[in-house]
Amino acid sequence: MISAVLLLALAIGMIIYRLSVREETPGTESFFGMNTIMTITAYGEFRDEALYSAKLTVSELENMFSVTIPDSDVSKINTADGESVGVDEKLVYITETALEYSALTDGAFDITMYPVSKLWGFDGGENRVPSDEEISEVLKNVGYKKISVDDKAMTISVPRGTGLDYGAIAKGYAEDETVRTLKNLNIESAIINFGGSISMIGSKPSGKPWVIAIKSPEGSGSAGTLALRDCSVVTSGKHERFFTDADGREYCHIMDPNTGRPVESEFDSITVICDSAMMGDALSTAFYVKGWEWALSYRSTHPGIELVGVSGLTVYLTEGIADSFTPAEGFEAVIR
Ligand code: AMP
Ligand code: MG
Repeated sequence: MISAVLLLALAIGMIIYRLSVREETPGTESFFGMNTIMTITAYGEFRDEALYSAKLTVSELENMFSVTIPDSDVSKINTADGESVGVDEKLVYITETALEYSALTDGAFDITMYPVSKLWGFDGGENRVPSDEEISEVLKNVGYKKISVDDKAMTISVPRGTGLDYGAIAKGYAEDETVRTLKNLNIESAIINFGGSISMIGSKPSGKPWVIAIKSPEGSGSAGTLALRDCSVVTSGKHERFFTDADGREYCHIMDPNTGRPVESEFDSITVICDSAMMGDALSTAFYVKGWEWALSYRSTHPGIELVGVSGLTVYLTEGIADSFTPAEGFEAVIR
């Protein structure tokens, strides 16, 4: 009888021990998706299940958004010659959201930039500098107002020649969906990094903040770190993708919808810190087009956004984030 009680106590002890170890040891999943390396690290009892569901969610979304997968919803719209295409309700939602950000940013954020990106070879083709005539020709097909969304019939259409590219918002949306998936499985501590877009759930299991590096404009080092909890940090910048012409001039992958040319920014990168990766994604792209001063004026009427801008060896910060930032050696932090 005594040995049976002892055995039972031992078994219960083992279960409790195993559960607590499972909670403290992180589960990590790294995979290639949406043209980047995606890494999710999560703590908690159901972390393995959460990571599995999150990976599935991302792959479903990629099959919907990709411009290179021929039967994705977006490819169907882009090749429908102006016909309406029935799409997933998530694509209707994200398109309506993208249109809202276009209106909020004077059209700086515009998912119809695809023909322009293609012309410059940023669709995976050969990078080149097109002629002025070629640019003005494709610009005729650009403009977010050309998109028709029917949220009852769940259809989207664009005129022939116009093409949609969700590259500046889809990763952020996928990240928000991942956060929701993890939270539904009671994950209270996790960090999700979708190449330039990071979201945190809670803090580290120790209660300390997560430490996020802001990329240095040169090489693979960092310009400094942010110590943060429970928010999203999304960066747009030229270092992500650019090419250099024979004269050494750099052309980045973010296009100015007004000119049909790569943005020439004083900034190497602009990072938005807020509570949604999708919002951060759309805004960081738009702010990269519009510049720092415009971003500050947007922020003054839309609270809940902090900014980090890297320009050479100077890191500009808005006042709400300044205390969380530690510059790397050689970099100077300036509140602006
Ligand atoms: P991000 O890295 O989020 O700033 O997104 C940049 C990507 O979005 C580019 O690689 C293009 O695929 C696409 N893109 C380029 N310019 C724009 C723009 N002005 N608005 C929306 N998407 C853009
Ligand atoms: Mg973006």
